[in-house]
Amino acid sequence: MPANILLVEDEPAIQELIAANLNRAGHHVVRAADAESAQRIVREALPDLILLDWMLPGASGIEFARRLRADERTRAIPIIMLTARGEEQDKVTGLETGADDYITKPFSPRELVARIKAVLRRRAPQTTEDAVELGGLRLDPGTHRVTAEGKVLTLGPTEFRLLHFLMTHPERVHSRAQLLDQVWGDHVFVEERTVDVHIRRLRSVLEPDGFDALVQTVRGSGYRFSTQTPQVPAAR
Ligand code: CA
Repeated sequence: MPANILLVEDEPAIQELIAANLNRAGHHVVRAADAESAQRIVREALPDLILLDWMLPGASGIEFARRLRADERTRAIPIIMLTARGEEQDKVTGLETGADDYITKPFSPRELVARIKAVLRRRAPQTTEDAVELGGLRLDPGTHRVTAEGKVLTLGPTEFRLLHFLMTHPERVHSRAQLLDQVWGDHVFVEERTVDVHIRRLRSVLEPDGFDALVQTVRGSGYRFSTQTPQVPAAR
């Protein structure tokens, strides 16, 4: 699955070159030339990864990375810092700020694409083509197929993305707002009850084989994919 990558780079020629290479690698690229416009883009929709230049006009890449890490909603976005600096201390500062990786210019496009792939695999597995198997379900993004103990299930595209995100982030509670951000890429214009509608559809596909119990409602908080049976009060 292509990743949505936000590229924050102020030099037009470098921006153009990187964007072309990312597009060729199958990713969607949104561009910004400074931290302020990047901030506006992130406010609308969460990218899967941010490629962030260190030296920007106005707020620096480091300042922007700190801001992202300080905000609950944007804390987990993977960040790769781009920089012309090769100093060891700068690298340490970049990683301490919470960057997941650090690339020094000039770099080869192939190296950049490989680093992005590695960070996405680690931090945003829902954007990769890796098949996921959990609790008797198998979801394969490559073939767009879901099977329940070998039996093929038919899911709509939204239910597929929703299940993919839940299966790659199991045992954690996701609020409706988080799911809108992660699965729909839009927490502003889509209503939260939309999530409930698609959870219901997903469960109805899983239900005949008894797999609907994997998609659990956590009252007052949201939803969770769990292979553990929810706690029930012990019978006396
Ligand atoms: Ca720059």
